[in-house]
Amino acid sequence: MHDDDTTTELFGAGALDALASEMDDIERALARLEDGTYGTCEVCGDRLQPETLEDRPAARHCAAHLPIALG
Ligand SMILES: [Zn+2]
Repeated sequence: MHDDDTTTELFGAGALDALASEMDDIERALARLEDGTYGTCEVCGDRLQPETLEDRPAARHCAAHLPIALG
């Protein structure tokens, strides 16, 4: 018998979703490092501010195109 539920009980499904989303961001950032587009906005292609990348190394959007849901 699996006890996969343990993690969900500890952190809650929302926290797991956030973590999965963060890991997805990081995976994308790594892929973009490889193809040379890391550090640019996915919408307009502008280079991201260094402060943005410092705050969120896996950021994929400039300030103008940052999804509002991100806190
Ligand atoms: Zn942009």
